[in-house]
Amino acid sequence: MPLPTVNKARDILQKLRMIREDDVAIDVKLSQIVQMIAEEMSADSAACFITVEGNRLALCAGYHLNPEYLNKVVFRFGEGITGEVAQNSRTTFVADVQSDPKLEKKSSIYLDDFKSFIGIPLIRWRRSIGVLTLQNKETHEYSPMETEILETVAMVLSEIVSSEEMNEIKNNFDKNNHINDREKLKGVSLSKGYGLGLAVVHRRRQVVTKIFAEDKEKELSRLKIAFDQMNADLDEKLNATKLGIGEHVDILDAYRMFASDKGWYKKLENNILSGLTAEAAVERAYEDMWNRLSGTTDTYLRERLHDLRDVSDRLSSYLSGDFGTAQKIENQDIVVVAQTMGPADLMDYDYSRIKGLIIEDGTPTMHVAIVAKALSIPVVAKIRGIFSEVKTGELIGVDGTDGYVYIRPSSVVQEKFKHKIAEKERLQAKLAELIDLPAQTKDGEHVNLYLNIGLAFDLDYIKTTNCDGIGLYRTEIPFMASDIMPDVDRQISYYRELMDKAEDKKVIFRSLDVGSDKLLPYWGNVGEENPAIGWRSIRITLDRRAILRKQMRAFLRAAVGKELNVMFPMITNVSEFKDAKETLMMEVEKEKRRGGEIPKKINVGLMIEVPSIVFQLDEILPLADFISIGTNDLAQFIFACDRGNPRLTERYDVLSGPFLSVMKLIIDKANKYGVYCSVCGEMASNPIEAMALVGLGFRNLSMSGSSFGRVKSMVRSMDALAMADYVNTLLKSSQKTFRPQLISYANDHGIEIY
Ligand code: PEP
Ligand code: MG
Repeated sequence: MPLPTVNKARDILQKLRMIREDDVAIDVKLSQIVQMIAEEMSADSAACFITVEGNRLALCAGYHLNPEYLNKVVFRFGEGITGEVAQNSRTTFVADVQSDPKLEKKSSIYLDDFKSFIGIPLIRWRRSIGVLTLQNKETHEYSPMETEILETVAMVLSEIVSSEEMNEIKNNFDKNNHINDREKLKGVSLSKGYGLGLAVVHRRRQVVTKIFAEDKEKELSRLKIAFDQMNADLDEKLNATKLGIGEHVDILDAYRMFASDKGWYKKLENNILSGLTAEAAVERAYEDMWNRLSGTTDTYLRERLHDLRDVSDRLSSYLSGDFGTAQKIENQDIVVVAQTMGPADLMDYDYSRIKGLIIEDGTPTMHVAIVAKALSIPVVAKIRGIFSEVKTGELIGVDGTDGYVYIRPSSVVQEKFKHKIAEKERLQAKLAELIDLPAQTKDGEHVNLYLNIGLAFDLDYIKTTNCDGIGLYRTEIPFMASDIMPDVDRQISYYRELMDKAEDKKVIFRSLDVGSDKLLPYWGNVGEENPAIGWRSIRITLDRRAILRKQMRAFLRAAVGKELNVMFPMITNVSEFKDAKETLMMEVEKEKRRGGEIPKKINVGLMIEVPSIVFQLDEILPLADFISIGTNDLAQFIFACDRGNPRLTERYDVLSGPFLSVMKLIIDKANKYGVYCSVCGEMASNPIEAMALVGLGFRNLSMSGSSFGRVKSMVRSMDALAMADYVNTLLKSSQKTFRPQLISYANDHGIEIY
């Protein structure tokens, strides 16, 4: 075979790109790639395997292979040459397999008489997530150029194999193989954690069989009894549940108001008076609303329609006398499985026994998901067909951390779950021991650890973590959870609640950061092509100045007598910052003129999220009291990589030269100007990333409450000076990620990064 030229390599890559972009099912895509590469490289057969169960290889595409093996586990890691490629994560070439002692045991999958073999691992974060293999009947040497081409193909395959599209194949694979007699289904995580319990299928909708009433008075009285009973029960359940405070409570309050709405009740009465039974009256009222609103694209109205469906179903179940299925399983841990669910439906169960929730049609912003999260219930959504598949009483495992559901888990998996749950409890206990210890490195550097707060239940973390303050209050979250735009008084109550809980600790309020993925239900969607770089955040509030002014007024009034820290997000140039700051100062003047008291001290800062502002630090730092780096957005813009696109999740790493250099530049500049600088993006919440940040010189980190203990324990086990040296050395290299090196460093130096 002639050696491929550079042109040939280019041709192959071009074909690869075309197949990748082709709009065909993923299994077809994989087969096409495998066939193309075999033909182009003149191989007699080829295969692509994916890693399943952590250490087994299943065949997902083959060319001139025994099709019987498709979607089946073929090798364990380490088994045969193919398994070795996966085990060692290393490209392996064997010129004459027949004379090799590691001859494939299951060679019936490959051609009987093949001679040469090359296997290339598909790698993601140093792990083999699959293997690509090529076989030749004749002895065949692979040139460096050929090997390089194959490694590029393997890179593309790794990306495809780790994409979301692959989940279905992985699910099917699990089903075909009935591994250990259990089913493991991939969904989307809406709330983290692990839970094991007996399934309770949440079914409420009744079919109305009797439409016309014989006795209107009787129907009116049935309606009244059911309506009153439903509302009394709702009141009782919601009061009895220790929900604390926060948006989830607002959501449930709104639901309660909806359920007791006089206008709705009147409509139901009128429907009965027109001749319908109470059940049919409820259904008719819903249909009327549905006819009027189902075509709307307005998110707020669609949500209302959704609420009305929930409340109608609830009322119907009261009319039929059949409500709540949880009673069927007494005194045992349960996992609720629903097609969809209203927020109050959770309260129909003893929520302390709900160990998991599976919602087939769930979305992250769904109210019930917010409530479940507030109650620390793991939630997994978007597993097609699960609602009809699961039966009440079956054992279910919910892995909300990685988004998996296990139906009838084997005893091995059950043990794993129990282990995870116990591990989490142990970790929490260990971290609780750290609560009063300082966040100080082994060489005596103090790192201030702050909390990011959004949902009000995060407020509980202020006490449980003993944090140094709130480094980021995402004020848009209560706006998003509210049904209408909160007025100044409502906002004051949110902000005051936070300030009261924080006592004398520092609190940084961020002005409304909406747009992009954060939409307000009452605003509708602007429908931009590129919302992440569109009309969002400070761009909106500067254009809709009244909103900004009202928010500033609420901040000022909430912080009377205290220190107020206001931070503006997505600042792109100096004049935007000046403009926003001026708006705040005008409100200060107004407050003074009206004789109102103002905060003791006002600090104004900005978020570093847009690359352009990094190049204006010399101009902006003298004007700012503090800065905070939003690494989520900054990374999205530095790498030109949509932060919400699951296909790109692991493509670029913040632990790499370009990103860490930008971070270093910012902290060095902030130190030069003596301006407080923190990191409040996800980077600060991840121990290994936070470790690198401390090495770069950051001493203020703001993170989610659930990460706090892990980051603190990392800080206490590291040496800041040695880390600084190590990070500076890494910065000189051009690898695409430093993550493996940093993990090894942490392991070698006893730094706790769990
Ligand atoms: C960020 O972008 O890093 C950040 C903290 O802001 P948000 O995640 O709310 O956009
Ligand atoms: Mg941001």
